[in-house]
Amino acid sequence: MAEKTIFQRIIDKEIPAKIIYEDERCLAFHDVAPQAPTHVLVIPKRPITSVATLADDDAALVGHMWMVIRNLAKELKLENGYRVVANCGRDGGQSVDHLHFHVLGGRQMIWPPG
Ligand code: AMP
Repeated sequence: MAEKTIFQRIIDKEIPAKIIYEDERCLAFHDVAPQAPTHVLVIPKRPITSVATLADDDAALVGHMWMVIRNLAKELKLENGYRVVANCGRDGGQSVDHLHFHVLGGRQMIWPPG
């Protein structure tokens, strides 16, 4: 069997994380190496590798994750705005092979990203 990703181990509660939201479909927790004053990750509980491997049937799940992001941004008081990032694959800079949305806020973001 393929080795579990670090995020699967967080879902399975094998390793700790600063979880701020959980429901039957997804989980949100603080990034261990924050790149902004607020940096949280929203992940599905289903083991989806990346945006590239989403199935058409995952549309409702992804829509739900965006509603979770919207609600969390409000709770985290990111009223000045925030950035949502999904790194995909090698060129996208993805380092954990479990779909995740970064939610970054609390500072001015720059464009283009690195
Ligand atoms: P990416 O490079 O887009 O795949 O993002 C992976 C993110 O996961 C990085 O921002 C890491 O800092 C974060 N990360 C890795 N391990 C953990 C962990 N155990 N708890 C929280 N965040 C983590």
